[in-house]
Amino acid sequence: MKLEELKLLQQRVTSLRAEGKYKDAIESSQELLKLGLAFNDFKSVLIAHLNKAASFYCIGDIEAAFHSIDAYSEVCLQYGDDVDWLSFYNVRFLLYEFQKDYKKAEETLHRTIELGEKTLKYNIVSNAYSNLSHLYIVDENFDQALEMAKLGLEMAKLHQPKSEILEIRVVLNMAKAYIGLHKFVESRRIMDEIIRTNILDSFIREKSQYFHLLGLWHTKLELFEDAFNAYTISKQLVESYNDLYLLKNIQEERMKLCELMKDIQKGYIVQKEYIKLLEDINEREVALTALKLEVKHSLRTIEKKANTDFLTGVYNRNYLESKVSELLNNVTNKQENIVCILFDIDDFKLYNDEHGHLFGDEVIKLVSKTCEGLMQKDEMIGRFGGDEFVIITKGRSLEEGKNKAIQIAEAIRNLEIKSSGKSYSITISMGVADNQKGKITSFQELFHLADMALYEAKKRGKDQIYVNSQSKI
Ligand code: GH3
Ligand code: MG
Repeated sequence: MKLEELKLLQQRVTSLRAEGKYKDAIESSQELLKLGLAFNDFKSVLIAHLNKAASFYCIGDIEAAFHSIDAYSEVCLQYGDDVDWLSFYNVRFLLYEFQKDYKKAEETLHRTIELGEKTLKYNIVSNAYSNLSHLYIVDENFDQALEMAKLGLEMAKLHQPKSEILEIRVVLNMAKAYIGLHKFVESRRIMDEIIRTNILDSFIREKSQYFHLLGLWHTKLELFEDAFNAYTISKQLVESYNDLYLLKNIQEERMKLCELMKDIQKGYIVQKEYIKLLEDINEREVALTALKLEVKHSLRTIEKKANTDFLTGVYNRNYLESKVSELLNNVTNKQENIVCILFDIDDFKLYNDEHGHLFGDEVIKLVSKTCEGLMQKDEMIGRFGGDEFVIITKGRSLEEGKNKAIQIAEAIRNLEIKSSGKSYSITISMGVADNQKGKITSFQELFHLADMALYEAKKRGKDQIYVNSQSKI
């Protein structure tokens, strides 16, 4: 795997998410995460976590999104730069906002502003002020909302190159805050300025927001007919990008207006549209739940595949290394015994050479199956590579570990394998070592001790078990 390949995968993950293919984005992120970790490429790890978080957010699995963004921040603490942190705050704000945890959302925005100012990213600072203003509007604290929108506008003006839409986003919040403060003239004046620029024609979301606001403005002034018409335009715009929850809100406003206008005819039509919309929302939620489950299932499958050896289905080297290291760390204080039994098939090459590689594969599979059948609670087996296997026992003495080794060697010796009418029996050599009352804390060390013992067993004529002399029975 070269760096260019990792770069390609990074791009793939990002574009899958941009295209709205969230399930694929999550699966590819998982792949990127695995490779990033294997090759110590932390940019890849960050991109993977971030895209997973954002994709989970988009399919409404907020718990999983938080999980990914927490993992992101851990990596970011060690390897992240300012830009990485800004992306972090961006996603975390969305999550808190979704959860309606406005206190934490606000806190996150303040951090965004601080870092955005430090890095001179005024567009980000302006957006953060805009979001803050929005939070205050939700809280009906219109003075603060106005204050934040004004700051947002100042920041938008500092941004180079000049971006009109950046300014319009904050001005929309400013207009809403004015409405909240009953300053209808000011509010209408800045709204008119927006519409005069024609810029909204290229920004459909902001355009729908504008008409939504116009609807609110007319409602407050009890100009119900005009309010209804403004909401109707907003609805048509929102329909083009199908934001069902926003549509629901607009339809509720339109229904209220029909009542205020006592227009039964219109009210009936809007109500029918509303019921259809609720059905669509329900359908979408059912589909989303199904998608969430599908993603969970596929991640579990990917994880399982990543942990298992393709030929035998027992654990692979990667998984063993991380799992056993974790085990060793956990038992250090408790002085719990961990025994490592390493074994290697004797003269395995002969099976390959005389009967072909596929036959060799069958031998490996049979040996693996036999051992698997002998595994008990707190024991696990993995294939380390080639004809070499590792067995780990937890909470058993070295003596018990050695007995396990004897049992396995016997079971394998008793296997009968046949090829071209001839019968063969398989023997193995085994090396045994333990974690020496918590002294050994890494898989590498423990494996090395068992490997030395295995080497000794081979040297002494194979088909035997040797216990590392540093481990005391
Ligand atoms: P020793 O008694 O010293 O262990 O001798 P050996 O012949 O078993 O030698 P060794 O363990 O070093 O050789 C393992 C061989 O296993 C080498 C490699 O060609 C073969 N091998 C590795 N992976 C696979 C596999 O997935 N399938 C098969 N069929 N053979 C494999
Ligand atoms: Mg061998």
